[in-house]
Amino acid sequence: MKQIYSHLGVSREVYEYGETVLSALRPRFDAIDRTAEYNQCKVLAAMQKNRVNATHFAATTGYGYDDEGRDNLERVYADVFHTEAALVRPQITCGTHALTVALSANLLPGDELLSPVGAPYDTLEEVIGIRESKCSLKEYGITYAQADLKPDGSFDYDAIRAAINDRTRLITIQRSKGYATRPSFSVAQIGELISFCKSVKPDVKVMVDNCYGEFVERLEPSDLGADMVVGSLIKNPGGGLAPIGGYICGKKECVERCAYRLSAPGLGQEVGANLGLMPAFYQGLFLSPTVVAGALKGAVFAANIYEKLGFPCVPNASEDRHDIIQAVTLGSREAMVAFCRGIQAAAPVDSYVTPEPWAMPGYDSDVIMAAGAFVQGSSIELSADGPIRPPYAVYFQGGLTWYHAKLGILMSLQKLAEAGIIVLPSH
Ligand SMILES: *Cc1c(COP(=O)(O)O)cnc(C)c1O
Repeated sequence: MKQIYSHLGVSREVYEYGETVLSALRPRFDAIDRTAEYNQCKVLAAMQKNRVNATHFAATTGYGYDDEGRDNLERVYADVFHTEAALVRPQITCGTHALTVALSANLLPGDELLSPVGAPYDTLEEVIGIRESKCSLKEYGITYAQADLKPDGSFDYDAIRAAINDRTRLITIQRSKGYATRPSFSVAQIGELISFCKSVKPDVKVMVDNCYGEFVERLEPSDLGADMVVGSLIKNPGGGLAPIGGYICGKKECVERCAYRLSAPGLGQEVGANLGLMPAFYQGLFLSPTVVAGALKGAVFAANIYEKLGFPCVPNASEDRHDIIQAVTLGSREAMVAFCRGIQAAAPVDSYVTPEPWAMPGYDSDVIMAAGAFVQGSSIELSADGPIRPPYAVYFQGGLTWYHAKLGILMSLQKLAEAGIIVLPSH
């Protein structure tokens, strides 16, 4: 084993340090495997109930009327998420698009949208109109209110109660911290928040931005009262095989409006050819619980490696996981660059390129990114990125297999050691 790792560029010291850290993580890994086993059964039950067969993998083109593969996949998704309906389409281009469809379909002029968990994901700022944009919800007369989290990251129930008014139509809850420093929420916490909001206003609808959270736990927010759960297929539920797509699962009345918004009033879910993507969508969903387990093991391994070396990690080395993202505060530009070069060097694709910080549009500092993915931009595949500014944190996520995630983390450590930024403890 040491030999093959050394062939890949991992020194004996780094490998052995990794093994020492790993030896203490077996109980954590067992728990992750049990969750994956449960979720694998959930996905299998949904596929069996809906009698998935080879005809569902056929490609359709044009209008896509009577696309049985597409319609059945939506039944499978609805059963996995325990919802009345689902919209799962390659025509949904990304997570932001799925969230935009869900919001704009279920909010009308004069309505108010409330986020009870602080600021939403960056790309939603223009969707909502927090940052001015053409075609924002704001432009269509939909207002936005926000209740911030308390300093300790918990829900500010008083502020939320005060923010809910007679115009509050939809409440949006983001499960994952995304690229913020707040904690991610457990499904149980989200369930409590949904109950609270509905106790204040029983007819309010709740949408959960489920990105990065699918299959991390046994329950999904739709099991605890969410009217819609929304996410991207180039994250968890696409299992690394879906090359594009998004999903919205939820109440029939909400999902139907989403379909009317995505295509056209009157057409709804009836149109939208599958373009030959059904094998990837079905098989990706089938693999997703296992893929998510691998990514989670990588995140836990990274937190334990880096925390022991003195770098603050969110979540920390021992906390439960509610999404697949791991933040590691490295403290300097040089360390961020070395870390990302290690992740890149471990990739199956583009392993020979060297990531450099660059001035990415929309950011106020340079950004560094490492990704060597089969699907461009896929973040269920091993990837790392972060803005080059204090506290110099990298956000790292994914890994289609645990072994690849492990190699990526060992390579990041190797590059930090080679740059003289860390000295491994001797044991
Ligand atoms: C990834 C993500 C999105 C959507 O991002 P896309 O890049 O458009 O797919 C939205 N919210 C959260 C929390 C995310 O992680």
